[in-house]
Amino acid sequence: MSQDTDTSQNPHHGGCFCGRVKFRIDGPLFPALHCHCGQCRKMTGFHMAATGALGTDLTFETDEGLSWFRSSDVAERGFCGTCGSPLFWRAFGSKYISVTMGALDEPDRIEAKAHIYVADKPNWYQLCDGLPQYDGDMPAVAAARDELAKKNAQAASDN
Ligand SMILES: [Zn+2]
Ligand SMILES: [Zn+2]
Repeated sequence: MSQDTDTSQNPHHGGCFCGRVKFRIDGPLFPALHCHCGQCRKMTGFHMAATGALGTDLTFETDEGLSWFRSSDVAERGFCGTCGSPLFWRAFGSKYISVTMGALDEPDRIEAKAHIYVADKPNWYQLCDGLPQYDGDMPAVAAARDELAKKNAQAASDN
C-alpha cells in the first residue's frame, strides 16, 4: 500500500458520545482487532473493536470528560466519565494506545484484521466474517507484549 492510498493515515478525529472527550491522531492507525475477552465484553457491552496508534500521535482537543480505570495489573482503560463511552486501552509502559472503533468519526477508513481471545467468546453470537480467529492474542502481538513485560520487569528490578 503506498502512502497516497493508505487511508489509515492522518489525521483521524474521534471522541465520545457527549463530546466532552475529543481527540485527533496524527499518524497511522493499525488495522482493527475484535477482542472477545471478558474484560472487553464487560466494558463495552459487546465485544471490543479497536484500532491502535502511537501514544505520541494522540492529542486531545478536549479531555474534560476523560477518566481512566485500572482494569488489570497490566493495563488501564480510558472512557468518558459523563456519557460512559469506552475510548482507550493501554498497557502500562507501552508506547501504543488502543482506540475503540466506535470513537472514530470515520471508522470506514480502517479495515478489520482479526478476532482475538475467541476462546473467551460466549456462544450467543457467531463470527461469520471470515477474518482469522485466535484463541488469545495474535502471535505477533503476544510476542511484543511478552517483550514489554520483560522490559518492565527489568526496569522494576533495576530500581
Ligand atoms: Zn462523553
Ligand atoms: Zn479484550
